[in-house]
Amino acid sequence: MFCFLVGPSGGGSGLVHDNGRVDSETPRSVVLLGSTGSIGTQALDVIARNRFRVAALAAGGGRVDLLARQAAQFEVAAVAVADPLAVPALKEALAAHGADPVVLAGPEGVAEVAVWPCDIVLNGITGALGLTSTLAALEAGRVLALANKESLIIGGPLVKRLAKPGQLLPVDSEHSALAQCLWASGPSGADLRVVRRLVVTASGGPFRGRDRADLVDVTPEMALNHPTWSMGPVITINSATLVNKGLEVIEAHLLFDIPFDRIEVVVHPQSIIHSMVEFVDGSTVAQASPPDMRLPIALALGHPSRLPEVSPAVDWTRAHTWTFEPLDDQAFPSVALARQVGEQGGTAPAVYNAANEVCVDAFMKGFLPFLGIVDTVARVVSEHIPGQAESVAEVLGADEWARARARELTR
Ligand code: MG
Repeated sequence: MFCFLVGPSGGGSGLVHDNGRVDSETPRSVVLLGSTGSIGTQALDVIARNRFRVAALAAGGGRVDLLARQAAQFEVAAVAVADPLAVPALKEALAAHGADPVVLAGPEGVAEVAVWPCDIVLNGITGALGLTSTLAALEAGRVLALANKESLIIGGPLVKRLAKPGQLLPVDSEHSALAQCLWASGPSGADLRVVRRLVVTASGGPFRGRDRADLVDVTPEMALNHPTWSMGPVITINSATLVNKGLEVIEAHLLFDIPFDRIEVVVHPQSIIHSMVEFVDGSTVAQASPPDMRLPIALALGHPSRLPEVSPAVDWTRAHTWTFEPLDDQAFPSVALARQVGEQGGTAPAVYNAANEVCVDAFMKGFLPFLGIVDTVARVVSEHIPGQAESVAEVLGADEWARARARELTR
């Protein structure tokens, strides 16, 4: 099933209600999960400059003062923190900022915010933790702007079974680009029969051009220094190992129903072309913009309209050089491994993701060398006997097994 809306639907700029009525006067209301993170803060920047309302916020609990300021600025009805121990400090900060929303706590509190009445939920939670919220929002019938790619990747069959056509909007820059390119498939809307290949671009990360031997002594500081994108720490390490690109290949397969052998990865260090679609006639359509996550965020929140002045466009008055090169699978085996687990399906992608999250943490703490991240993920994946991913329990069971095994191997 093609679970997200690619057709240039004729809805105009306003909100399309359940009854099909288009109301351009009503500001669209947004629930934002992961509001204090990189995606969350950039989403609020887009929201503040456009006609939206924020219904509720959820965050981990590490930055309660920022969360309280957000709650006050956007006059939200409810705020949830995943860490219940953060509640007293949050309440104090809310009082200091003159805000008095409903305060919810723990994973149940976050899940309650995920189904809070609204028009669109933006899931910007990092990692496998976002799965429950993704499933809850879809089950409640909300349109879901998905920045938490992990929930789609690990819960693939579950998410796809729940998501109705038009309910899932990609926020990942590559997938937002692919969606925009697919709009060019024909005047009557997306037609996958004319798609020959999806071409996902990768910046190559900070270690592009190095061979495997040159990656032995990489430190967390070096890996956190991404050349083109400013992102959260986990995704920045995942960009250095190219695990992020591996996850994105699986994400593209799940979102667009294109087989893995028709999804290419090409290294494009300038990060201006965010992905491309090659059609059967030999034409390739690419989406270009300077790297800025506010663009895919705005495209999802405003869908099917484009919001004005979201981000500076490419400056055509200057000379540019855009280059493309093949991926070095020897130095960066993570993408080939992701294809393998993606083809296996079932619980295999959950194991790849969970083992990686543990290994990234171990690398950041100095327990694991850089090359050990993907080597350990590969070992955990090879030891896993993939099962079905037809229930949350099966997915989380595989996730827990992979975490435990990765911890044993990185101790
Ligand atoms: Mg991306």
